[in-house]
Amino acid sequence: MKPLNRKRKWALRLVMMIALVVLALPLSKKLDTTPKELAAQRAELSKRDRTTEPSSVDSASLLADVRTLADPAMQGRAVNTPGGKKARDYLLQRFREVGLEPVGTGFEHAFSFTPGRGIRFWRAKFWEERKPVPGVNLVGQIRGTVDPDSVIVVSAHYDHLGLRRGKLYPGADDNASGVAAMLAVARHFRANPPRHTLVFAAFDAEEGGLWGASAFVDNPPVPLQSILLDVNFDMVSRNADGEIFASGLYANPHLRLVLDKVRVTSVPTILYGHDKPGFFRVDEDWTMQSDHGAFHQRDIPFLYFGVADHDDYHSPGDTFENIEPKFFLSVADALIDVMAALDAADAAQLRRKP
Ligand SMILES: [Zn+2]
Repeated sequence: MKPLNRKRKWALRLVMMIALVVLALPLSKKLDTTPKELAAQRAELSKRDRTTEPSSVDSASLLADVRTLADPAMQGRAVNTPGGKKARDYLLQRFREVGLEPVGTGFEHAFSFTPGRGIRFWRAKFWEERKPVPGVNLVGQIRGTVDPDSVIVVSAHYDHLGLRRGKLYPGADDNASGVAAMLAVARHFRANPPRHTLVFAAFDAEEGGLWGASAFVDNPPVPLQSILLDVNFDMVSRNADGEIFASGLYANPHLRLVLDKVRVTSVPTILYGHDKPGFFRVDEDWTMQSDHGAFHQRDIPFLYFGVADHDDYHSPGDTFENIEPKFFLSVADALIDVMAALDAADAAQLRRKP
């Protein structure tokens, strides 16, 4: 082929590529309505009458749980490590102190998982089968007084990244905070018995694959059909703007009414979003980003509460000192209000319409 022809061919390819990008741009803008949606939500919520009721959360316990789980003694709570075991022992004691009942065989639910295949280039196979890794979920419950056979799962993962290359990843926000908030919810409902059975699940091995939550839905300690929804907490203790996302209404629009009632008075700003699929969207879809994803895959409704990523996300800077106690306490209160509103609804309202 002559050089000129080759040049022409490349020029044509370039023009086609540019044309494709130019054509895709308006499409992506059109689908990516999130900044606009969020601005509208913020404007609407700025007029709300925030509750002035004093907090019902034991803030000393809430903060002590995060401080303990994020302590260097827990070594970042990686799955199948002494630090992970230490965190689990602490949580077992907390489950007992709060007064949760074991579910099925006990609080501890062991499982194992095989992480993805690795690729090695030098003198080795490209595909390598890895060894199974043991993990342990902790599951406790408070029986419902009106409809005990219908279950609402409250979940938070207690594992984190551990020690990597000699550096400690304490995981205070991710996700000691979610576990502490889950325990605050449990304390509230021990004092104010729920209508439905509440199952509290501290999942292991969320990091790197939602393995604990997947084991839970694969081998459920309560019948899967009895689970009305999963409410998952993951990273709930820091945001400079006092905002937290309630994600999942795109797949579960029937839960919106319940959330709407809470967010018109909540102290933190509860935003909806990060739950729409779509190739051209630039905002992240969080549907499979934490343990609620395993429930969603089984077609179980979910709500996920978490803050937008911050500078210390998955970094050694995710320490107890860097969480925001005032915001965190307000979120814990709001999450109790959310759980109370969900529990007040009837099972038929919480199930997704066919
Ligand atoms: Zn997390």
